[in-house]
Amino acid sequence: MPPGHIHDDDLDLYAMRRFYAVDRKAIEEHLILCRDCQRRVAALEALIDALKIDREDRGKM
Ligand SMILES: [Zn+2]
Repeated sequence: MPPGHIHDDDLDLYAMRRFYAVDRKAIEEHLILCRDCQRRVAALEALIDALKIDREDRGKM
């Protein structure tokens, strides 16, 4: 992976587990080294989880 951070779009796709759309290995290798991107992925995953829970709750109503 070239120097610099993972692109926002790729990080979004990674957090959504759209692994077919991203270079998963390259992202994971960057995440091992980069706390900034780890935090960004964690924030995106938390957001996605919150949205999923919200959707499931509405489905039950
Ligand atoms: Zn980074």
